[in-house]
Amino acid sequence: MDDFTLYALIFLAVITCTIVFILVYLLIDKNKQLNHAKIILKEVHESFEHLDDQAKLIIKTDLELNKAQEQLDLRLSGLDTLQKISRLVSTTLDEDEIFHRLKLVFNTNLNFEKIIIFTFTQNDPEKSIKSQIHFGVSQDDMRFIIAHLNQGHVLLEKCQQGNSFSSINCPQQLNEKITQIFHVHHFIIAPIFTQNGMIGIVFVGNQASTASITAGDEELIAILANQIGQAIENARLFEQIYRSRQELEKNVHDRTQELELALNEVQKISKTKTEFISAVSHELRTPLTSIKGYASLLMTGKLGEIPDSVKERLGKINTHSDNLVTLINNLLDISRIESGRVPMNITSCNLTHIIENVYDLLTPQFKDKQLHFKTNIPKELPDIPIDSSQVERIFINLIGNAIKFTPDSGTIYVDINFDSMQTTTTISDTGIGISETDLKCLFDEFYRVENTINQNVKGTGLGLPLAKKIVEAHKGQMWVTSKLNEGTTFHFTLPLAQEKINPEEPKK
Ligand code: ADP
Repeated sequence: MDDFTLYALIFLAVITCTIVFILVYLLIDKNKQLNHAKIILKEVHESFEHLDDQAKLIIKTDLELNKAQEQLDLRLSGLDTLQKISRLVSTTLDEDEIFHRLKLVFNTNLNFEKIIIFTFTQNDPEKSIKSQIHFGVSQDDMRFIIAHLNQGHVLLEKCQQGNSFSSINCPQQLNEKITQIFHVHHFIIAPIFTQNGMIGIVFVGNQASTASITAGDEELIAILANQIGQAIENARLFEQIYRSRQELEKNVHDRTQELELALNEVQKISKTKTEFISAVSHELRTPLTSIKGYASLLMTGKLGEIPDSVKERLGKINTHSDNLVTLINNLLDISRIESGRVPMNITSCNLTHIIENVYDLLTPQFKDKQLHFKTNIPKELPDIPIDSSQVERIFINLIGNAIKFTPDSGTIYVDINFDSMQTTTTISDTGIGISETDLKCLFDEFYRVENTINQNVKGTGLGLPLAKKIVEAHKGQMWVTSKLNEGTTFHFTLPLAQEKINPEEPKK
């Protein structure tokens, strides 16, 4: 082998070795890259798996959120329905109207296939059950259900406990009985209570097994039953109050009619009495006047001399006739003033003058008993419109009585006050006084108190009623206060101004 060949061979070997070396190097590098790529691929794979989990989680959460949202919507719509129902049933006090309004709301707002409201006659579920509202239940089914319940169904006993229940929480046996009768898979039952006990039941149910109910639904129906109970209670209370009021009004009306009849009767009797007194007094006055006239004539001796003993008797006839005439005149005056037939001759007068006149007239009686007379009359007392001769009779009667019923050395006071409307006169004495029982009848005609003075002194019991009638004819008032053994005070008012008082329309 020549050198050239050798060198060529060596060169070739070197070249081959270099190529092999480069190839080996490249192979090792590629392997390295492959391993690296594998690692990256694994990591990517893992990331994908992680992302997949996350996506699944997101989808699951989204589904749950949707479900929660749906339930929330349902609850909101339930609350909205409740609010509507509450407003509708609380704004009427008519029981039939409550159910009518409930019907309208239930029809569109409650998402149950079957809705029934039962009520019990006389608050007694055993007596008779009636359906007030029913939706989604045929008439035949309704009759079947009511017939069952009227036999005393266990669900009524459960309701009597006072709480609502549903197919979610109901004992198995009862659940079956209810679902059989009502032909439903799911149901809620809530009793309606008032203060008087259970008066009805709200039933809602769904026939489709998929249309389940929730605890929220049950809560809603329980609140609804509660509100119906309250509304019915209010309506019944109102009805009760309304009925009692009507009864009361009827009673008042009946009593008023009875009283009116009685009053008419009394007025008729009073009129007859007045007419009778008036007629009799008239008839008596004429013969009395002639008796008195003849007695006086006989006394003059013009018809012949008469002995003194006869004269004395004739004098008595005269005095008694005078007394009788006074009595008859008083009686006549009372009935005439009462019926407005005595015209009041109204002029502006001063009460002080009248009192002075009366005192002058009665001075002998004052002196007889050594009585004191004291007056307290304001100087500025205005003149008042009165019939002075009639008002004088009031003072004569009252002061005359005070003299009569006050022991010797006593005092009689006359006080007058006035305001913008009227004068008030009081005539007081330190006399024997009047008991409370007698005070009640003091102004009755012919009433005389039984006391020692009255046994000895004659009187008619007409002075006070007459005085009162005169005061009233002036549109004033008269009353009396007294204490036994201490004294008596008569009070009377007279208005400062008088509209035309008399002649009054004669009473019919
Ligand atoms: P009469 O004086 O004619 O009996 P009256 O009508 O004037 O009739 O009085 C009725 C009764 O009232 C009198 O009988 C008397 O018993 C009682 N009475 C009246 N005024 C007084 C008085 N000032 N004090 C006590 N009793 C009186």
